[in-house]
Amino acid sequence: MENLLLDLKSKIEGVIEKENISDSYYQSIIEPRRILEVNLPLRRDNGEIFNYKGYRVQHSTTRGPAKGGIRFDQSVDLEETIALAMLMSLKCSLSKLPFGGAKGGIKVNPKELSISENERLTRRYTSEIIPIIGPDRDIPAPDAGTNEKNMAWIMDTYSVNVGFAVPGVVTGKPLELGGITGRVSATGDGVGIIASQLIKKGVVSSNARVGIIGFGNVGINAAIALRKSGFNIVALSDITSGIVGFNDLDEVIAEYKERGSFNKFDNYEKITNDELLGLNLDIIIPAALSNNINLNNFEKINAKVIIEGANTPISKVADQALSEKGKIIVPDILANSGGVIVSYFEWVQDRQKYNWSRDDVYKNLERIISDSFERVYCYSIDRNISLRDASLGLAVKELYNAHKLRGLYP
Ligand code: NAD
Repeated sequence: MENLLLDLKSKIEGVIEKENISDSYYQSIIEPRRILEVNLPLRRDNGEIFNYKGYRVQHSTTRGPAKGGIRFDQSVDLEETIALAMLMSLKCSLSKLPFGGAKGGIKVNPKELSISENERLTRRYTSEIIPIIGPDRDIPAPDAGTNEKNMAWIMDTYSVNVGFAVPGVVTGKPLELGGITGRVSATGDGVGIIASQLIKKGVVSSNARVGIIGFGNVGINAAIALRKSGFNIVALSDITSGIVGFNDLDEVIAEYKERGSFNKFDNYEKITNDELLGLNLDIIIPAALSNNINLNNFEKINAKVIIEGANTPISKVADQALSEKGKIIVPDILANSGGVIVSYFEWVQDRQKYNWSRDDVYKNLERIISDSFERVYCYSIDRNISLRDASLGLAVKELYNAHKLRGLYP
């Protein structure tokens, strides 16, 4: 069984060695700064009390406040949360955003909660983590299983506790509460910009055939963004099933919003996730959860390019094997950085009390993510290494330099 945290640590240790980082500051890159584990009693609508486990991990606060999403999913555990927090530090370092990295979550299936149960659980979780969050300490955001409603409840719980409105405590909020236009689609928009950069480099053509695994926030918005650039979206899937043979993406999205899952569709050909991997595609975008592409299914992949919309969607062993087969993998810390980049704009907007336009958001997202792509691409060519090793190398060096410059207290 592959272990996400151990795999990520060993990958980073490999990068540290390659980058000739020899002093012990590197340990601060491997270990999380702060871990909070909380028990969350929830009174269900029927009066019964259930206890849930919640976490908030701050991996780094060296370059600025910790930043990272909150996930509600049955698979949430401490090890995975540490690994995802570490990735956030690297993602923010790679994009040169003034943030460290964090991640949080509750081990719960949000689909089993009523809206009022979800609100009570979110508020209870917030009140438990209040001592370590804040606009200058740690700024949560949505992740799998959470959305702008959860962010509104977090903002309200925090604000009520300090006695005044603090929009900058979370990003991904509704517009009416200081949210920024374009945040909902930001991660998918970023995936679209990366795909366009791949056209410019001659890696793929603009009418490339694309399959997307996971049809939530990232999957849907990546599909819309890629379609805008002329790509052919030919296959989609979620945790229940997948579909092929559709002509009108807008119709599929509208129907998906109504039905909520692909197993409830009856007008298109159905496929499984593994069958999607084996289709004749040019690009695959995993936009679900960790390790969707693994030892058991990576051999099915025909596509030349994989753009990681999700965090850690490819297991370490599968990643190595796919790289050896010459596949081009745009790694998570680059490919899905659009979300945290626009979250950064939202945080700036809330602090300045000056609203950004949609145009400003998109132009600046495009500028930052294209700059990261160019740096990573050139570094990978110069050193003859994969895009993943190049991204991790640049991110680790940025974080390491910040540690060294700050020095060690006391
Ligand atoms: P979401 O909850 O909106 O959607 C997740 C989707 O994945 C759903 O369609 C679900 O059915 C599907 N899924 C889950 N398990 C699956 C499986 N085993 N096989 C196929 N499909 C499966 O979540 P999201 O916000 O879109 O996040 C998806 C990924 O992107 C996560 O890894 C998240 O950490 C990462 N990410 C999200 C953001 C963001 O802004 N939302 C930013 C950066 C990274």
